[in-house]
Amino acid sequence: QPSARGTPAVPEGRRHFDVQAVRRDFPILQERVNGRPLVWLDNAATTQKPQAVIDRLAYFYAHENSNIHRAAHELAARATDAYEGARNKVARFLGASSPEEIVFVRGATEAINLVAQSWGRQNVREGDEIIVSHLEHHANIVPWQMLAAEKGAKLRVIPVDDSGQVRLDEYQKLLSDRTRIVSVTQVSNALGTIVPVREIVEMGHRAGAKVLIDGAQAVSHLRVNVRALDADFYVFSGHKIFGPTGIGVVYGKREVLEQTQPWQGGGNMIQDVTFEKTVYHGAPARFEAGTGNIADAVGLGAALDYLERLGLENVAAYEHDLLEYATSLLRPIPGLRLIGTASEKTSVLSFVLQGYQTEEVGKALNQEGIAVRSGHHCAQPILRRFGVEATVRPSLAFYNTCEEVELLAKVVNRLARARN
Ligand code: PLP
Repeated sequence: QPSARGTPAVPEGRRHFDVQAVRRDFPILQERVNGRPLVWLDNAATTQKPQAVIDRLAYFYAHENSNIHRAAHELAARATDAYEGARNKVARFLGASSPEEIVFVRGATEAINLVAQSWGRQNVREGDEIIVSHLEHHANIVPWQMLAAEKGAKLRVIPVDDSGQVRLDEYQKLLSDRTRIVSVTQVSNALGTIVPVREIVEMGHRAGAKVLIDGAQAVSHLRVNVRALDADFYVFSGHKIFGPTGIGVVYGKREVLEQTQPWQGGGNMIQDVTFEKTVYHGAPARFEAGTGNIADAVGLGAALDYLERLGLENVAAYEHDLLEYATSLLRPIPGLRLIGTASEKTSVLSFVLQGYQTEEVGKALNQEGIAVRSGHHCAQPILRRFGVEATVRPSLAFYNTCEEVELLAKVVNRLARARN
């Protein structure tokens, strides 16, 4: 037992969460890599898929496949029901007022580009300001920079403290009547910081700005309710929440979406077209031009059902304990510097190891079957804030175990002792 080796006792959450049963739902966790059992600690990059999602995709293609809305025949009706059923599931999952507030897109990146290119182009003018935080993924920086350059607007950045938490006092100073939109992540993909987004939204609204929350790293770890948050926009990617790649979501408040012009034109998004004038559908259809990713939306619905069956509260408690356990194992390793030490964190352990390039650590872990990301994690500004260009980033999900993080710590410890 870990406690007998002088490390903390096995986490409390383990007793309430049958991780071995959960692992059997994920066929890929039986894979072997370099002759060892796969240890998947790259969950912040993408998550693995339960059999329920894989089966749902196969069922769609075997029994329901059709384009939606357009054709009046049985399979079109089945596909439409499945697709709109998934939209309903997402609306319930996020606590939205209505499925009409849910737009399907390819992922969080496309979601943020959609908001910047539709709402942003319509509402941001020369001299206006857009606020992001220092923690953002490039997907929540670059679309705003592009918009700012086009409009002559300015990007302002909320700084973080030395633990990697955003500074609300500094945020308050940045807000003004020039602030048009605030766009901030709920959980940092590079450090795991949980950002106080409720306060961010409230303060942004007090200044008269709209607020977008990037939930890409949050939805698989925390219970989210967009109405309680009062966010104007909330976005996430299906593949980071045990669903397929190529599907993601923009939640937008109904009154905001209805006043926003579409960003892409084509089929599905129109009510009537003549060469002189086109009348658009209302939301969400006006934002879904062309044939969407129907099967993967349905697969996302199955992923959310799966997660609801496990219970997000159970998942969060288990992961919290596992993260604490992993942190306690890594922290004492000689030459290891953990980056991101905020008191509110989830899933992510970012570190550098003295005497090693991050890729070397990643390769050594891969030799043992352990998958982690090493690099800049598409979040260069926040890593540079801490004086590094790259980190090693193990990131946890509910199917990870104490034994897996013990193995991670053992291998890193061995590397550390060889050069420190
Ligand atoms: N935002 C955050 C916080 C992320 O971690 C990611 C992906 O890593 C994204 C946005 C972009 O997501 P996607 O690549 O699925 O569009």
